[in-house]
Amino acid sequence: MWPLPEPALDARAVYATCISKTRPAKVKARLRQLEDTVAAAADEYEKAAATASLHNLKHLEDQPDGNDMSKGDNKKLTGCYTSRMARNGSAGREIYNQLIKSARRGRCPLCGHGFADTIDHQLPKIAYPLLAVTPANLVPACLPCNKAKGEAVPATAEEQTLHPYFDDVTDYVWLAARLTAPPEPGVTFFVDPHPDWSPTLTARVQRHFTTYKLARLYAAQVGTELAALNDYLRGKPYRAILDEIQARATSYGTRNSWQAALYRALAASPWYVKSGYLNEWDD
Ligand SMILES: [Zn+2]
Repeated sequence: MWPLPEPALDARAVYATCISKTRPAKVKARLRQLEDTVAAAADEYEKAAATASLHNLKHLEDQPDGNDMSKGDNKKLTGCYTSRMARNGSAGREIYNQLIKSARRGRCPLCGHGFADTIDHQLPKIAYPLLAVTPANLVPACLPCNKAKGEAVPATAEEQTLHPYFDDVTDYVWLAARLTAPPEPGVTFFVDPHPDWSPTLTARVQRHFTTYKLARLYAAQVGTELAALNDYLRGKPYRAILDEIQARATSYGTRNSWQAALYRALAASPWYVKSGYLNEWDD
């Protein structure tokens, strides 16, 4: 939703680094044998992600063991992430840190709000062990976003949430808000899709929005903002209030942030400008 450049990391080299300190030697030898398979899966992943078709990677699901995790390769591969990349002091930890740092100003690219202090697997490692340490599959994310998606696997093109490395919908103002009047004044956030978006892209943006519960996340931020704004506006004449809100809306420009959407909605509401700001808004 908030795009990031794809990490400039070679998938094979990352895998080799992660497994470099593996003990016992028998496990390391097996992981080395899997290197070509892992590199090939990473290549397929990048091509699929670039064409918004990660749902077409079903043949990589539960590989190389098939459905039987007890065979061990799948556990060794998911362990490459948990023990050999995410763990402090592990061979791949520097790469993990580098991926976390790639989040702009530390913000989660999935919601644009939380702190990106975890790594989310765009395709979950439990279903796709071969992609457990594939850099293009590792996205810095806040913990709530990471948990919200969980182990979900897209079954169709429409079920794919947006991928920060491959999808960019920032060239259009799609995040919108509407005000509700008393008895329960409030703000509801929603996706206002571009009329030229394909039905698939529209469905994906909606999917992203609901998967990460963005309407609830943004609505929860509004109370404090409005309490301060309403205090500030109290006693001012209508024209001054309208100018103030319009100036704030303009200052946020065409961003898809909850603040920008909020001020656009306020500026477009004669009710709010006239008297709505006098209501009690939760803070
Ligand atoms: Zn987030």
